[in-house]
Amino acid sequence: MSLAEVSRATPLALANDKIALENATVTRMLEAEGILDYSGHVSTRIPGKDAFVIQIGSSSRAEVTPESMLVCDYNGKVLEGDGQPPSELPIHIEILKARPDVQSVLHSHMELAIAFTMMEGIQLVPMRARATRWKSGIPTDPDPSHIKLPEQGRALAKTLGPHHAALMRAHGLVLVAESTQALFIDAVHFKENAAAQMQALQAGAKPLPLTDAEIEQIEAMEMRTWHIKKLWNYYVRKGLSEDVLPAEWKDALVPTKEMLKRDAIFDKPRAR
Ligand SMILES: [Zn+2]
Repeated sequence: MSLAEVSRATPLALANDKIALENATVTRMLEAEGILDYSGHVSTRIPGKDAFVIQIGSSSRAEVTPESMLVCDYNGKVLEGDGQPPSELPIHIEILKARPDVQSVLHSHMELAIAFTMMEGIQLVPMRARATRWKSGIPTDPDPSHIKLPEQGRALAKTLGPHHAALMRAHGLVLVAESTQALFIDAVHFKENAAAQMQALQAGAKPLPLTDAEIEQIEAMEMRTWHIKKLWNYYVRKGLSEDVLPAEWKDALVPTKEMLKRDAIFDKPRAR
């Protein structure tokens, strides 16, 4: 099914269809990767509109579809779609309001991340090479309850500040990114990084996080945009072959050969 056909299949306004499809795709793939389960959710801002896409709170994360998505405004009102948003909607509303640079927000109850809010004197830090994304820090919000009130959402957004991730004491995490695709890839690397630090701790060793100099060295070689495309291609194909994603979504999701072509091997221009 082409994107145009997917568009016709959903009751959402045409301009929102790609956003709803990507959100549903990422939600299903995060569930398949054990990052979402019976709860947790992804929101995606709709450019040019004071609104965002999010799933129905009670829908299975393994079965969401673009046509089952909701469009909500920043007061939590459902503008399009038929259902109730997740009860922790203020997480998304307040972060999207506070961070105009952010297009997509993930809230997950990732076990590995929660563990780092329950160990005295241990801070989750960038360990693996792909964790430079969190070099500015991963703060922990002290509120262990469900975030259902606007003031709780605002406090969480304040804890997150300018960072790309925040843990939530005994509860979960939030990740933010410039696109829903980028958010998925960040979530995969966030889990890998937490697992690496946990392995070091379980081995009884003192973790050796990346140093500032190492982070600088890694960043000089990074190609975030292309890396996102490459992993998107891998996970979308995997999702299609394992029936995580419906076959009809293939044409709208799989990047073309042309899209996967690299223009350069570095993001940043290099000094000679
Ligand atoms: Zn939660």
